[in-house]
Parts: sequence; C-alpha cells; structure tokens
Amino acid sequence: MNLDIQDRWALVCAASKGLGKGCATALVREGVNVVITARGREALDATASELQQINPRVKVLAVAGDITTREGREQALLAAPRIDILVNNAGGPPPGDFRSWSRDDWIAALDANMLTAIELIKATVDGMSERRFGRIVNITSGAVKAPIDVLGLSNGARSGLTGFIAGIARQKRIAERNVTINNILPGLFETDRLRQSTDAAAKAQGKSFDEALEAKRAAIPAGRFGTAEEFGALCAFVCSAHAGYLTGQNLLLDGGAFPGTM
Ligand code: NAP
Repeated sequence: MNLDIQDRWALVCAASKGLGKGCATALVREGVNVVITARGREALDATASELQQINPRVKVLAVAGDITTREGREQALLAAPRIDILVNNAGGPPPGDFRSWSRDDWIAALDANMLTAIELIKATVDGMSERRFGRIVNITSGAVKAPIDVLGLSNGARSGLTGFIAGIARQKRIAERNVTINNILPGLFETDRLRQSTDAAAKAQGKSFDEALEAKRAAIPAGRFGTAEEFGALCAFVCSAHAGYLTGQNLLLDGGAFPGTM
C-alpha cells in the first residue's frame, strides 16, 4: 500500500532510538523528509545516517537538543521548511512512590509528557490547517488506559495530554481541514526504556533482571514484546493520506495486554 505521503516533511521528536526511531524509519521508507531530534549527538547522527541509507532520496536532518526546552523546540522547528507531520515523543519519567515526588518532579514530567507536545502542536497546527493537510501523533502509553502505580508521573502527565487532545482534535478548524491528531499507546516494546524499567522493577522486587523481564513477557497474550518496526508501521499509517477520517483516537498497541472489551 502506498501511503501517499512522499515529499511531506515530518518532525519526529526523541527519535535516535526506540519508538521514535521506529516512526522515523517507517516515514523515511514512505519518502517523507524528516527532522529527528535527541539530546545525545552520537546516537542521533548514527540514526540519521541509517535513515539516509534506507532512502537516499529524502532529506534527513538531525537536530541535537532537549525537546522539553523552549530552545530545543525552536531549533527543531526551524530546521524544516514546514511541518506536515508531527510525532510528539520524549523520554518517560522515572518510576517511584508518589510520596517522594516534589513539585519540581511533577513539573519535569508535565514538561516532557504533556506541555512539550502542546507547545509543538501550537506551533504547527494552524499551518497544517491552512495547507489542508496535517497529521499529529502523540506517543503516550498504555498506562493512560491501565495505570501502573509506580509510574504515577507518567500516568498523570499523559492523561493530561490525552484530555487536551480529545478536545482540540475535534475543533472544526482542525478536523474539517484534513488535520488529524491521534495518540498511540504503546504496551511493552523492546527498547532501552523497557530495559531500564525492568531493571528498576527487578531491584524493587528482589528478582533478577531476566526473571523480571520474563514475568512481563508472560503477561502479554501475544507472548512477546512489540518491536519499534511494528510501532513505526502503525504510526506511518496514521500519518498517511488514507487516514484522514481517523482523529481524536487513542490507539493501543500492546499485543492484547489490556484485558478490556474496548
Ligand atoms: P528509548 O528507547 O529510551 O528512546 C528514547 C529516545 O528519546 C532516545 O532517542 C532519547 O535520546 C530520546 N529522548 C529522551 N528524552 C529526550 C528529550 N528530553 N529530548 C529529546 N530527545 C529525548 O524509549 P522508548 O521505549 O522509545 O520510549 C518512547 C516513549 O514511549 C517514552 O516516553 C516511554 O516512556 C514511552 N513508552 C515506552 C514503552 C516501551 O515499552 N518501550 C511503553 C510505554 C510507554 P537521548 O537520550 O539522547 O535524548
């Protein structure tokens, strides 16, 4: 299936590794020019070269910086001539006990997992509406549907973003103009983030890393973790020309882990 988005420009945030990289890879395969960001220059440049090799016809621009800061966002936005596709992503907050979180911890989580996405949408959505094409995907978490107690910072901040998106995706001047805004909710995917959270869980539960990882895997009906490629494939479809009627949705990609009917 040709997704019909060749020559579009995408900003994919936090994309040197993991799910963001999966999204950038799938978009580049479809002929989309991309700006990718991450804080660490080395991994970012390596990913940019990989993407360029996958599709030498597209432009791949790497902007090193912290997307949760105003400066990081400004540099990312300045790199592209226009943004047709925006994939919002940033690192997830640390696990812990809510009794120990300070106001500063909350502000950092809100900045990373709610306010940065809102700022980037604010900066790009009206241009998308004027051009009658826009696709915004927010990478949130399965924890929005099924909260994980030790990830309270994530549960809270991402739920805030989800509520905000539900309202604006349905604004006439956005939805009517072929601009869609959706959230993709990852379950458990094989990335550095999964390794870090498993390490923390293993220490907290007095288990080995392998035992903790196996316990997580065994709880997934699909019997395995997801891959960044699978995540990227869904993201690219949601960003495609064919997905113009899909908006304001929360798409859970979790191998069947969420046990509810809907
Ligand atoms: P990952 O493999 O650790 O990759 C994170 C990427 O984001 C890296 O490229 C990292 O590069 C970049 N990054 C982190 N903070 C950044 C910042 N402030 N500014 C710019 N770039 C930043 O993580 P992942 O598994 O892909 O997770 C992506 C998101 O999905 C996270 O919010 C995570 O909590 C959420 N999630 C993941 C899973 C899962 O199973 N993997 C499940 C639910 C939710 P630098 O460190 O160099 O900046």
